[in-house]
Amino acid sequence: MQKHADFAEFTEITPSAGIETPRHGWRAKCLQRLIRLELPVPPTVALPCDTVRAIAAGQMPDTKRLAALFPGVLVSVRPSPADPEWGGPGTVLNVGMNAAKHAEFVKTQGQAFADATYLSFVQSYAVHVARLDPDMFTAEPSSEALAAALAAYEAEMDEEFPQSAAQQLTEVLRSMARAWEGTTARLLREAKGAPADAALGLIVQEMAQAIGPGLSGAGTIQLIEAVTGAPQVTGRFRGLNPANRKAEETLYLVKDKRGHSLEEAAPEVFATLQDQCRSCRAKLREEMQIEFALENGSLKVIDATRVNRSARAMVRTAVTLAQEKIISRDEAILRVPPRAISELLHYQVDPRVPRDRLARGIPASPGAASGKIVFSAADAQAAAAHDERCILVRRETAPEDIRGMHAAVAVLTERGGVTSHAAVIARGLGLPCIVGASDLALDLREKRFTTRDGRVFREGDVVTIDGTNGEVLAGAAEMLEPALDEWFRTLLHWADNVRDIGVRANADTPDDARTARMFEAEGIGLCRTEHMFFDEDRLTVMREMIFANTAKDRKVALDRLLPMQRADFIALFDIMAGSPVCIRLFDPPLHEFLPQDREGMRELAEALDRPLSEVTRRVEALSEFNPMLGMRGVRLGITVPEIYDMQARAIFEATVEASRRGAAVVPEVMIPLVSAKREVELVKTRIDAVAAAVRNELKANFDYRLGVMVETPRAALRAGEIAEHAAFLSFGTNDLTQMTYGLSRDDAGRFMGSYVQQGVYAEDPFHVLDSDGVGELLLIGSERGRIARPAVTISVCGEHGGNPESIAFCRKAGFDYVSCSPFRVPVARLAAAHFALLDPREGRAAL
Ligand code: PEP
Ligand code: MG
Repeated sequence: MQKHADFAEFTEITPSAGIETPRHGWRAKCLQRLIRLELPVPPTVALPCDTVRAIAAGQMPDTKRLAALFPGVLVSVRPSPADPEWGGPGTVLNVGMNAAKHAEFVKTQGQAFADATYLSFVQSYAVHVARLDPDMFTAEPSSEALAAALAAYEAEMDEEFPQSAAQQLTEVLRSMARAWEGTTARLLREAKGAPADAALGLIVQEMAQAIGPGLSGAGTIQLIEAVTGAPQVTGRFRGLNPANRKAEETLYLVKDKRGHSLEEAAPEVFATLQDQCRSCRAKLREEMQIEFALENGSLKVIDATRVNRSARAMVRTAVTLAQEKIISRDEAILRVPPRAISELLHYQVDPRVPRDRLARGIPASPGAASGKIVFSAADAQAAAAHDERCILVRRETAPEDIRGMHAAVAVLTERGGVTSHAAVIARGLGLPCIVGASDLALDLREKRFTTRDGRVFREGDVVTIDGTNGEVLAGAAEMLEPALDEWFRTLLHWADNVRDIGVRANADTPDDARTARMFEAEGIGLCRTEHMFFDEDRLTVMREMIFANTAKDRKVALDRLLPMQRADFIALFDIMAGSPVCIRLFDPPLHEFLPQDREGMRELAEALDRPLSEVTRRVEALSEFNPMLGMRGVRLGITVPEIYDMQARAIFEATVEASRRGAAVVPEVMIPLVSAKREVELVKTRIDAVAAAVRNELKANFDYRLGVMVETPRAALRAGEIAEHAAFLSFGTNDLTQMTYGLSRDDAGRFMGSYVQQGVYAEDPFHVLDSDGVGELLLIGSERGRIARPAVTISVCGEHGGNPESIAFCRKAGFDYVSCSPFRVPVARLAAAHFALLDPREGRAAL
């Protein structure tokens, strides 16, 4: 005889039974709540996690006693882990089915029902419990199929199909307990956040037979539509029309064009079900889906689960429940995972339609778009000129592709990682983008790509880019529109009221600034001014400036750029209406503004009216072995100071102009790529002089704040002395990560996958801040900066500013704000609120 476990092996669920989620799982607790609401739940027994653990270890509970609690009826066995997200083994129905029961059903319910019920139990027992080959047990229900399944079982197992309910129950419980311990199941639930020792409870429940001469059937019902979250009774029901009970006259749940419905056949049952859903919603504080059975008109509630919903439905439901005071606002905020809302800001492939996937890459910028493929920036612009939606496909993108990216509705690159040029720009523009799609064989010369399965796509063919999950799809997929609706805004306003770190946006153009305002960023944390120079007319003047041989010639070009920059800044200040705007002085190496190929050089020579040889020579002279570590940022500002002088003048003149017509502007001027205090001193002296000159010339007074972008390890280490001259320090974590690791942000994509896979890096450090290494530099830098200048403003403006884990780090380190691409602002606002609620600072009560 087997030894029985010596604790409460199982408990019948009653209103007063001691059922607890950690001990019995969520389903057991939920069923008890339904019972307390007096819903007609069939008799149910909960096996606590301890019992299930003992079963997996070979110690069976008294299954005879358990089976005896359900005399003469069939039962179901369902999983009940502590969190529904953790999954669990599949439900087994109709345990207790045997030859005697089959004979009884033949008499009471008819041959077909008896055969189908017995066959489905034999199939599920053979496959899931006895682990026999599923191919042998797939037949459609009939008396012959049942006989064949029983014979197959006997032949394979060398024994009769078990007839005792207690024995069947023993084996079902054992197989479910063991399935939970399996490696795949463990890995799956751990990926969903389950702890390593997550336990399983089990539920044994009397089966409600959805059959009878009266109105019978089974189904589900919920009060909201799962994709939008709009109030709408939805669900399914399978029953037969009671008027004639013909198999082809299926009953659906609600009245619609498909045919007869439960709503019409039994309005009182339909109304009761809705009432039950409503009371579940109020008492379980959640939109629930009820699973029910009807047996001769009598209703049984078998189970209730949280309505499985899209992100937009999640937001609407959380806000509505809080507005109806069913849950608190804080709880509504916490019910929406920050990452989930990024899909609401963009078009999205409708999850309800099938997908024809061509390739997979790194999801670099969320949202989805369909269009004709083009293989060059120029072709993208040509398509846009004809009002055609196009997808720009490149091996990787470079600054000269920016205008093509503007013209495209989505971008796809074969190479690159999450901070590659294509990824950063696309996120800034809110364009769906996939990078590193190495599945595609790209042939730029022939303007085509070939997928792994050999399909060829040429220029003009239509594809869909799903930047949310990194999939390239054939054709134009059905889309859902962005949902910046009242529920979304309300939730984010609630989040703003609780968060304790600022959120600004990185915005380079007036369009970006408008997006930043739309997403209610508290200001601009980084305006990369070089992005303002890529328009055709400006690029030419910029190139003239680069090609100037003398300071005088350079001044002529800069004087032409000045009014353009001034207009840019006036537009930004106007849009931001007094909110802070942090403008970074020119940063990239000059050669990025020069053509890379012969054709481009020829065109440039033409535009500048210079000999081709001179252009080629200049381009060669400007090229560097390692441009990322070469003459860029402040190094350029010190070597060619007129560029920063012009930018400072444009900023200050715009400040005076914008302040005259609207809210007073206090611009923030940021120096990039600093590594030594002296660099800041030199630039500051000149900028102060420009400010004084502008004040004098325009007879106007204004303040401005000068700050430093901390993006070299040395700047972080020397932040103390640097802060003496800086009102703010903003960590450029893209470059800082690149330089701390000695890892090129443009090339890392090639091996990042295998590095992460082999656990060299836990995550891509360009995506999630490396809190141990780069993070230590952030802590050192901010601490030294604050000691030297307690009022210094500290922030992050690299891509990490939009990543929830990195925001948590910055908040803990006491940073004043994070700044990220405009389309990541809502996620950052919500994530910051989550951290404030889950880890409150002193002064705010815990939840
Ligand atoms: C950075 O380096 O983190 C940054 C924000 O600047 P950029 O990406 O323009 O180099
Ligand atoms: Mg940088």
